[in-house]
Amino acid sequence: MSTYKFSVKVALSALTKQFRYIEEITRPMNPKAIEAINRRWEELPDHVKTESQTLGKVGVGCEGTHGVFPKCNFACTPCYHSKDANKVRIDGEHTIDQVTRQMEYLNSKRSPYAHAQLIGGEVTLLDPKDHARSLEIIRSFGREPMSFTHGDFDYDYLEKLVTNENGKRRFKRISFAGHFDTTMVGRRGQRKVSKEEDIDPYRKQFCDMFKMLKKEKRVKFYLAHNMTVTPQNVDQISGVMTRCKSMGFSMFSFQPAAYVGNERRWDQDYRSLDPDYIWHQIEIGIGASLPYHDFEVGDVRCNRTAWGVLVGDNWHSFIDSADKRDRKVRDFYLNNMGGIHFNAPLKLLIPRLIRLTIKHPEIIPLAIKYVIRFVNRVGGIIRIIKHGIAPKTIVMHRFMHAEDVLPAYALLKRNEMSSDLRIRETQERLLACSYAMAHPESDEIVPACVQHSLLDPTENTLLAQLLPIPSKRKLNQQTLQDA
Ligand code: SF4
Repeated sequence: MSTYKFSVKVALSALTKQFRYIEEITRPMNPKAIEAINRRWEELPDHVKTESQTLGKVGVGCEGTHGVFPKCNFACTPCYHSKDANKVRIDGEHTIDQVTRQMEYLNSKRSPYAHAQLIGGEVTLLDPKDHARSLEIIRSFGREPMSFTHGDFDYDYLEKLVTNENGKRRFKRISFAGHFDTTMVGRRGQRKVSKEEDIDPYRKQFCDMFKMLKKEKRVKFYLAHNMTVTPQNVDQISGVMTRCKSMGFSMFSFQPAAYVGNERRWDQDYRSLDPDYIWHQIEIGIGASLPYHDFEVGDVRCNRTAWGVLVGDNWHSFIDSADKRDRKVRDFYLNNMGGIHFNAPLKLLIPRLIRLTIKHPEIIPLAIKYVIRFVNRVGGIIRIIKHGIAPKTIVMHRFMHAEDVLPAYALLKRNEMSSDLRIRETQERLLACSYAMAHPESDEIVPACVQHSLLDPTENTLLAQLLPIPSKRKLNQQTLQDA
C-alpha cells in the first residue's frame, strides 16, 4: 500500500472514530440510564404503575449516603439516628472513602445520573476541604449532590467550602438542605423554642449566606427547607409556608415524625399525624390547592410532590390537572424524555435536545402551546416581569415506623407478602421506594427506611469502635504532648 493510501486510511479511521464519539455523546438519552429506568419500572409493584408515575419513566429515584459522618451536635426530638451515632468521631478520610465506595456502587448498579444526598449527622462538622472533596466525588460518579445541615454554621465555612487553597472558585453551584423547626435543640443563640416563627430569623440568615456567596463568589445555589412535623408543630406549618415561601428556598420538604432512631428522643404520639391534614396545612400556607397525583414519585403514601412556580406571592402548578392539553404535555415528558441528563453542560444538552426534537417534531407545537397557556395562566408576561417567577417543589415524605419496617422487610427478603394490612402496606411502600442507600460490601441497595430502622444501629455501634471519640482525658494528654 502506498504511503498516500495508508495516510488516507488512517485519517478516515480517525474521522470515523471521532464521528462515532460525537454521535454517542450527543444521544438524547444515555443507553445505560434508559436500561436502569426500564429495570426500575419492571421492579415496581403494579399499584404504583400509574400514568403519572415518574419512577421507571424519567428516573430511578433519589440516593443518600449513610455511615459517613453520623455525629451531630444538635439533640433534636425526634432524631432518626441511632443512639450510638454521636459516639462516632468525625473523620474526613473515612467520609471520603465511604462516599467513594457508595457512589461508585450506585453508579455501577443504577443509572449513571441521579441526585444524591450527602447526609449523615451534621455535614458542617466535616472540615470544609473534606466536605468539598466529598461533593466532587459524588459529581464524578454522575450524581448531583445536596448537603444536609441544621444550618447553624457561619459564612466563613461556606467560603472555605467553595474555594480551593489558592482562593479560586471550586464549584459553580452547590445545593444544601437546611433543617429548621421547633423539634431542634442546640441552635446557637436559641437552644430550644416552641414557636416556629421564632426560627424565621435563622431561616433568613441561612438563605442570606448563600445569596452573599452568589454575589461574592459567583456560586449559584439550590436550597431546600426541611421540617420535621410533630403533633406539636403541625398547626404551624401553614405559617412557616406563608412566611418563608419567598425567602430563597427552592424546595419545601415536610417529614412527619416516625418512631425510628433514638427512642429516648420520642416524646409525642407520631401515629396520630394525618397526612391529609398535613398536606392541607401546606396548601393553606401556599394559598392554593396542591394536586399531588399529577406527578407521582413512588408510592403516594410515602411521597406527595407538587411542582410549580411562585409569581409574586401566588402559586401556580406546572400542570393544570383539569386541562387535558396539559396532561398531554405531562405524558409526553414522562413517556419520551426519561434518561435525559438535564444537568449536563449546555454544549452537550443543546445538541441532545435538538436530536430529541428531530426524533419527536411534535414537541415543538406541544411546547409552544404549553408555554403560551402557562404564561396566560400565571397572569401574563407583564406580571412575570413585574413580580418575577420562582420555581418551587413542595414535598411531604413520610418515613415509616421501625416496628413496621422490621417485619415487613424480613418477609420481603423471603419473598413473602404479609396478610397483616399494616405490614403489607409497609412492604408495598418499600417495594416502590424512591430513596435508596448503597451497601457495596453486601452487594445491596436498601430503602432509607430499612437503613434507619434496621441497619443504622449495628453500623453505628461498629463505627463507634472504629472511630471512637477520644475522652477528654486523652485529649488533654495529647495537648500536653503536642505542647
Ligand atoms: S420506603 Fe421509606 S425511604 Fe423509601 S420512599 Fe417510602 S418512606 Fe421514603
